[in-house]
Amino acid sequence: MSPRIAIDEGAQRAVLRAGSRPRPLPPYRVRRRTAGFTALGTMLAALTAIAVGGPGVPTSAAPGAGPRSPYVRPSAAESELASTARERRRAEEKTARATITSPPRYPRVVWRKSRATGRPSAGALTKATKLPAEGPHFLTWDPERRSTPSPAWRRYGTDRLVRVILRVADDYARANPGAPRLTIGDLSRRRGGRFAGRHRASPLHASHQNGLDADIYYPRRDRRERAPLTVRHVDVRLSQDLVDRFVRAGAQFVFVGLSTPLTGPGRVVQRMARHNDHLHVRLSR
Ligand SMILES: [Zn+2]
Repeated sequence: MSPRIAIDEGAQRAVLRAGSRPRPLPPYRVRRRTAGFTALGTMLAALTAIAVGGPGVPTSAAPGAGPRSPYVRPSAAESELASTARERRRAEEKTARATITSPPRYPRVVWRKSRATGRPSAGALTKATKLPAEGPHFLTWDPERRSTPSPAWRRYGTDRLVRVILRVADDYARANPGAPRLTIGDLSRRRGGRFAGRHRASPLHASHQNGLDADIYYPRRDRRERAPLTVRHVDVRLSQDLVDRFVRAGAQFVFVGLSTPLTGPGRVVQRMARHNDHLHVRLSR
C-alpha cells in the first residue's frame, strides 16, 4: 500500500510540474488513456484515476459520486490542480470579456446632420456633432485652463468639421510617425452663439459661433502635447504640413500667426493677429 501511494504522489507531482505545458505522463498512465485527450483532459483524467485508486482499482466510482478510494485522502494536489484549471479558465474568460468590452480604439462619434446658420461671428448651430475628448491621433486642449482634455461644451461643430478634423489628424499621424498628436482647441458651443470664456466679461472668440471654426495648436518642437507658449516652440515643418492638409481638405480659410512663416494659397491662408500659437480653420457653409 505504501509503495503505491509513493508512486501516486510521484505521478501527482509530475502532473503538477507539467503545469500548462503538456508533458508525457509516466508510462503507466500513458498506457491507460492518452490518445484523443487534450493536455488538460489528460491531466484531469490522470488525476481522476489517481484519486480513484490507480491501476487495479475499479474506476467505476467517479470522484465525488461514491466512496473515495481508501488509498488516497481528499488529495490536496487534486484540488490544487482543479483550482489551477479553474483559475486558468477564469483568466481566459476575463481576457475574452476584456477583449469584448474594452473601449474601441476609436472614440465613438454620434454623427448628426448638423446645420450652421448665420455667420461665424453671429450665428447658431443646430444638431451639433461633438468632437470626442481624445483619440489615438488627437487630444483636445482647454486654452483657459491650459489643460487637456477640453470640456465637452467647447467641442461642438458641424458633422463636416468634425469629420475633416479627424481625417486630417489620421492622415497627419500616418505621414509623420513620431509626431505629437493633433492638439485641438475650441470649436463652438452646442447651440453655437457667442463664445464667451469661463469669465464672461469679454468674448473669448470673435467667431466660433456656428460650428464651422476650429483652433488647432501648432505642433511643438519638443513634441509635448500642449499648446506652444511662444512662436519659438513651434515646429514649423509639421505646422506647415497641417496648414497644407487643411487647405487640401477644402477649408475656406486657414488663419496663421503674424510671426509664423507659414504660407499657402493667398485666398485661403491668411495672417492674423493672435494666431502665433494656433492655426484657425474655417469651413464654408
Ligand atoms: Zn479661433
